[in-house]
Amino acid sequence: MSKTLAVRDHHPNWQKLYADAVSDPAELLRLLDLEPELANGMDDAQRQFSLRVPRGFIARMEPGNRHDPLLLQVLPLPQETALQPTQFIDDPVDDHAAMLAPGLLQKYSGRALLVATGACAINCRYCFRRHFPYADANAASANWGPALEQLAGDRDITEVILSGGDPLVLSDRRLRALTDHLRELPHIRTLRIHTRMPIVLPERIDEGLLEWLTGLHQQIVVVLHGNHPAEFDANVDRACGALRGVGATLLNQSVLLRRINDRADTLIALSRRLFEAQVLPYYLHALDPVRGAAHFDVPDGKARSLVEQMRRALPGYLVPTLVRETPGEPNKTPL
Ligand SMILES: *Cc1c(COP(=O)(O)O)cnc(C)c1O
Ligand code: SF4
Repeated sequence: MSKTLAVRDHHPNWQKLYADAVSDPAELLRLLDLEPELANGMDDAQRQFSLRVPRGFIARMEPGNRHDPLLLQVLPLPQETALQPTQFIDDPVDDHAAMLAPGLLQKYSGRALLVATGACAINCRYCFRRHFPYADANAASANWGPALEQLAGDRDITEVILSGGDPLVLSDRRLRALTDHLRELPHIRTLRIHTRMPIVLPERIDEGLLEWLTGLHQQIVVVLHGNHPAEFDANVDRACGALRGVGATLLNQSVLLRRINDRADTLIALSRRLFEAQVLPYYLHALDPVRGAAHFDVPDGKARSLVEQMRRALPGYLVPTLVRETPGEPNKTPL
């Protein structure tokens, strides 16, 4: 017993918080003072893609509000398993066709994306990865080998994007092992990290991680994923400030989601809140049509009008580009 505790205490604090995430819908409803009946009918959705949300993120939800915009991003709902329009499919962005090596995807010129892990600190209901077979398509499990070989042989790739899943779920040791290899590929000039961690589990941005980032010789870009201004608090500000402190460029991508952020005042407040956290908006994504997420869809006309309203209210640098990922296109397509 005492031995187990000693080993456990060796883990950084964030790993304990990560392991302590809520995965039982009944517990989530209890924590938010919501009626347990709300869980009725969500079993199928829960089985398909289980609830997962860190307690610190739950603390930013409003108790008693079943329409809370943070709650709606994570709560399994019966609509997910209802009949979907035919364009809502398992792999809407056709990741399979873009696979250069296990876990290495290239769709666009000059940059390749490493699926570093299938795991995330949070499970977002609208995520296109809800059906992705991570067991055979993640590069870390093959010790990065085939992916690195591919990168070594292609000098046109100058930017590697760590994605997933959430790459910051990996331990500092595993991240370091990857970047030690990348050091041998001088044509990789930029390391980009796509992560929701600074928002959903800001404790992840700890001394160990910052030390790792400080030692890298590439330009570092961190692309966060925040959808609503209420996701930000002092801990998130601290995490973003620390990342800026080691020289990372901070950008944000959001997904436009019905009933969560499909109002101009919400999107405007989000841009302002990002700027306060030293983050610039990058992309506002139209929803990927993944099976189970049709109830989040916002029509294109409305999406365009929302961005038009943002443009009228904000300086240009706080207006994200509205894009959609269309399989086969050479870039994310502006709407
Ligand atoms: C989205 C994506 C990128 C990043 O595109 P940017 O426009 O550079 O942000 C790169 N590779 C793949 C496979 C992607 O899906
Ligand atoms: S954090 Fe990103 S990858 Fe993970 S479930 Fe949410 S949207 Fe998907």
